[in-house]
Amino acid sequence: METSLRRAIEREELHLAYQPICDLSTGRMVSFEALARWRDAEGCDHSPVDFIPVAEESGLIVPLGRWAVQQATMQLAEWDRIAGGSCGMRMSVNVSAIQLQRDAIPAVIDGALGKAGIAGDRLTLELTESAIVGDPDGVTMIMEGLKELGTTVAMDDFGTGYSNLAYLQKLPIDILKIDRSFVNGMLADRDKIAIVRAIMGLAQALGMKTTAEGIETIELGQTLAALGCTYGQGYLYAKPLDPEAAWAMIAAQA
Ligand code: C2E
Ligand code: MG
Ligand code: MG
Repeated sequence: METSLRRAIEREELHLAYQPICDLSTGRMVSFEALARWRDAEGCDHSPVDFIPVAEESGLIVPLGRWAVQQATMQLAEWDRIAGGSCGMRMSVNVSAIQLQRDAIPAVIDGALGKAGIAGDRLTLELTESAIVGDPDGVTMIMEGLKELGTTVAMDDFGTGYSNLAYLQKLPIDILKIDRSFVNGMLADRDKIAIVRAIMGLAQALGMKTTAEGIETIELGQTLAALGCTYGQGYLYAKPLDPEAAWAMIAAQA
């Protein structure tokens, strides 16, 4: 897989799918998360759940990650161009812990924003808790560099990793993304609801917003909105979309 992934990156055979993120209080779409997709030369689709770990182990996550942020910011610029001004959406890009260690992330992000002509406040970087575990002080510097660019920092898959709560308070984190394993089936599971409430309480106490992942039903979206969750993402709103379908949703909302 490593060999064919390397080739796919060189030949630009990867693409991004865009999944809407909605403001739960208004129901309006406010941003998109860019998610890597790979269809190989034989026409077989590989899941990022499989190829991202391979990219991380092989170091290919560095070129892949650079490509993803460039591609996502260029796409946002393209939507602005079609809209004849800001399309009103923001963009989220995933950044792996290995990428943070091996690449000069703030400089890479700054370069991509400059090339696309996109302001930093339109971009969110989704990091995971594992980034903090390895080198907390290094990550603090990187996050501060990202904040200087005006970007938003979100903690992805929150609750599934090793959460260093002391660092959570010190780091410039804007959003906690509640992992879909807690959200999915939450209405029928007291423990999951308790965990979701606890994460939202923590976020509120620390002045952070929350995004619930994996919202698949209307009832779940309504409950999370009532609990005070800021944003929601999931198949209820849309699956990850190709750029044309994503643009159709933006145009329909305007
Ligand atoms: P993630 O960042 O937590 O992304 C959310 C995942 O949840 C996506 O899976 C999305 O398709 C899925 N999802 C969204 N709503 C629902 C729902 O209602 N139900 C269910 N069952 N699933 C939902 P996907 O696209 O397979 O990506 C998996 C993971 O791969 C991502 O999780 C992220 O950690 C990683 N990944 C994807 N693209 C990139 C990338 O460009 N760079 C890096 N470093 N990681 C990436
Ligand atoms: Mg993510
Ligand atoms: Mg996630």
